[in-house]
Amino acid sequence: MNTDVIVVGAGNAAFAAAASAQEAGLSVVMLERAPEDEAGGNTRFTAGAIRVAYDGVDDLQQVMPDLTPDEISQTDFGTYTEDQFFDDMGRITEYRTDPELCEQLVTKSRDTMRWMQNKGIRFMPIWGRQAFKVDGKFKFWGGLTVESWGGGEGLVEAWATIAKRNGITIKYNCRALSLIADDDGVKGVQVKDNGVTKELFAKTVILASGGFQANPEWRARYLGYNWDLAKVRGTRFNTGDGIKMALDVGAAPAGNWTGCHAVGWERNAPEFGEIAVGDGFQKHSYPFSIMLNANGERFLDEGADFRNYTYAKYGRVILQQPGCFAWQIFDQKVTHLLRDEYRIKQVTKVTANTLEELVGKLEDVNPEAALKTINEYNAAVNTDVPFNPNIKDGRGTEGLAIKKSNWANTLDEGPFEAYAVTCGVTFTFGGLRITPSAEVLDTDMNPIPGLFAAGELVGGLFYSNYPGGTGLMAGAVFGKIAGESAARSISTADA
Ligand SMILES: Cc1cc2nc3c(=O)[nH]c(=O)nc-3n(C[C@H](O)[C@H](O)[C@H](O)COP(=O)(O)OP(=O)(O)OC[C@H]3O[C@@H](n4cnc5c(N)ncnc54)[C@H](O)[C@@H]3O)c2cc1C
Repeated sequence: MNTDVIVVGAGNAAFAAAASAQEAGLSVVMLERAPEDEAGGNTRFTAGAIRVAYDGVDDLQQVMPDLTPDEISQTDFGTYTEDQFFDDMGRITEYRTDPELCEQLVTKSRDTMRWMQNKGIRFMPIWGRQAFKVDGKFKFWGGLTVESWGGGEGLVEAWATIAKRNGITIKYNCRALSLIADDDGVKGVQVKDNGVTKELFAKTVILASGGFQANPEWRARYLGYNWDLAKVRGTRFNTGDGIKMALDVGAAPAGNWTGCHAVGWERNAPEFGEIAVGDGFQKHSYPFSIMLNANGERFLDEGADFRNYTYAKYGRVILQQPGCFAWQIFDQKVTHLLRDEYRIKQVTKVTANTLEELVGKLEDVNPEAALKTINEYNAAVNTDVPFNPNIKDGRGTEGLAIKKSNWANTLDEGPFEAYAVTCGVTFTFGGLRITPSAEVLDTDMNPIPGLFAAGELVGGLFYSNYPGGTGLMAGAVFGKIAGESAARSISTADA
């Protein structure tokens, strides 16, 4: 086989890279480690929520032409300007995000989404998860407004259809093992294709094979103590292969190698994600709860910020608790606000009519301490401030060692509901060092000829935390750029 571009992976970043390279006139072959029925990487497990800058509903209509006048009049979409996106990336990563990569992400988000839409990917507003109806009108909050039709499954299906329609070959069950490279750069990939080891040659290679979150040994090595015990939220195939292959030919690592995106996840979930459940094991309505650990104590500010800005760092805090678990507790005042994922079959849930009964049912928790914590919390809630889930309402607690800053309601209306969670790791933040043109740099900071990268395996964008919906956008932006850069490098070499 000899082709212009080999793209390693078949998730969102890989498909964006393949589509953009093909659009530039290149022949493209994609290598997917998974069999076809498990293909699509983490992308397939997502809800398809994608963070994009927009100045108002006009911008949104360009990517969602199906929006009706009624829907528009009943919704406050607000804005999510490039400035807001920049501010979020800065604040959430503690101003560590690579400024050049961040600039690409933010300033190219709108155009990249329009490009995806023109290619045939459909989007819709995330009514169910990112907007509550207050006084007859939906209001979006937290900078996240759009999702792909059919969630992650829909997105992968749409991308695969686009790829096949455009003559892109997808080789399933074909695991990239190493890069074929010499002093002139990368020439191809050694693969295990349906069990047979082969060499595949190409003018350029784009790596888009995800992070190392599904590799417990690397998790323990880089993320540290107890990370081998975390559940993997998504695909079992992202074990760091692309990162290792690049490092082996001299690529430079970049970013937050001890950091990752990790969330509160069903305590008894299986080791890896299940496509049929998707992201349903997550439990992201905790801003309306209090969370208790085995000692019956609260251990974080559940209402510090909108879910989109805290969920990706709270998995780590849950992992640090004794036994690596916590219970989220709700009363009847807020159960109608719980996200769809609370209503799936596979939940570890208890209900009780009284708090005394509830604490006795919280498995592995000290009941006396739990009741004391709940009573102290109830006494500390400032009920003078009105509750409003659409804004950071400032309805907090007073006098507690660990404050709840927003959305604090007393727990006093049974039946009470409690859900057990542990840490679910989504993807790792450390990865390869790339230029804003998605060229992979070597340890002397020179581009490795013929090698590009996009998606989860790129380091430098996210540190400690992450604003929800940015993973898909980062993959799409840098995937598209990688395809364009591959085309440019081939035309330069051919000239
Ligand atoms: C449950 C869950 C929910 C999420 N929800 C959202 C959301 O709503 N919005 C959002 O923006 N992000 C979300 N994310 C994060 C998002 O999934 C990722 O940021 C994004 O999908 C990464 O895209 P990618 O193309 O880089 O990697 P992936 O989609 O994981 O693709 C990697 C590909 O590489 C393949 N591969 C791995 N190793 C090899 C190899 N050696 N050879 C060949 N192929 C290989 C894999 O099989 C896969 O096809 C979620 C993640 C999970 C797990």
